[in-house]
Amino acid sequence: MRIGFIGLGNMGGPMAALLLKAGHNVTGFDLAQAALGKLAAGGGKAAASVAAACRDAELVVTMLPAGKQVDAVYRGAGGVLASAPKSALLIDSSTIDVTTARDVAAAAAKRGFDMLDAPVSGGVAGATAGALTFMVGGSEAGFARAQPVLQAMGKTIVHAGAAGTGQAAKICNNLILGISMIAVSEAFALADKLGLDRQKLFDIASKSSGQCWSMTSYCPAPGPVPAAASNRDYQAGFTADMMLKDLRLAQETARMAGSPSPLGQDAAELYQKLTAAGLGAKDFSVMYRFIANASDISLK
Ligand code: NAD
Repeated sequence: MRIGFIGLGNMGGPMAALLLKAGHNVTGFDLAQAALGKLAAGGGKAAASVAAACRDAELVVTMLPAGKQVDAVYRGAGGVLASAPKSALLIDSSTIDVTTARDVAAAAAKRGFDMLDAPVSGGVAGATAGALTFMVGGSEAGFARAQPVLQAMGKTIVHAGAAGTGQAAKICNNLILGISMIAVSEAFALADKLGLDRQKLFDIASKSSGQCWSMTSYCPAPGPVPAAASNRDYQAGFTADMMLKDLRLAQETARMAGSPSPLGQDAAELYQKLTAAGLGAKDFSVMYRFIANASDISLK
């Protein structure tokens, strides 16, 4: 399949590489030259613009930072909706707000395109291994058409419902993740202060009722999970800036829906403090170091 891929960063880069490996022709565009260079080195074609990346595409995938960029790349001058063939299936895998996802999908439909929101979970490791989870919003027909391409990048592919429901699922998932990462960080920082060996806490809690992904797959305290970012000086991975973006999205969405989210609000405030301390570009699990090194953190 001829695929246009826009946004070749931490996630998009390895996802495009998987599509190349599966035998697809990938033409990519990114604002960063280094990302384009990597795509070309892996056998893809580097395009000079969004329009050039999707002009002949049968399918377009976007993996961009947030709603603002997604809106501009799809609806802006020289964007996907103005440039891709009407027969192309459009898939946005970025994590963005539900309203923008629905607006862009509606604008695409008005121009005759089928568009899916298909955000992912699984991080850079999942993107590299082809083990992502895709949560997909959009038509049944679009979902069926997307299967071969999503299967090349993911292991679990779930149709969540109509346009925007993929983003709704992602926001709810990351609300859990943002809060649970703080919980695990607090517990490991407390264990340090109590003289409890962190490997012992891991051995016990990972087999007890405190068990969760933030601990067993991504432990924020260095040591217990060798592949975790905590063992690489918190090199991202998934940046703290991105987690703050997602927690703010969750708060906005919760307010709109009239659903209380008190811990989500505290989590967003704590990530705000962490990024204000200059740690926004680090992996979001740097929360452990932030808490362990701070003596006077109060959430309110
Ligand atoms: P990133 O910042 O590494 O990559 C985004 C890329 O988009 C960058 O290379 C940037 O140059 C490019 N870009 C921005 N504006 C552009 C434009 N107008 N035209 C072309 N390219 C443009 O971010 P990432 O970590 O790859 O995350 C991408 C999305 O995936 C985000 O929405 C994020 O929330 C989501 N996500 C990330 C992870 C993770 O672990 N990193 C996990 C799940 C979901």
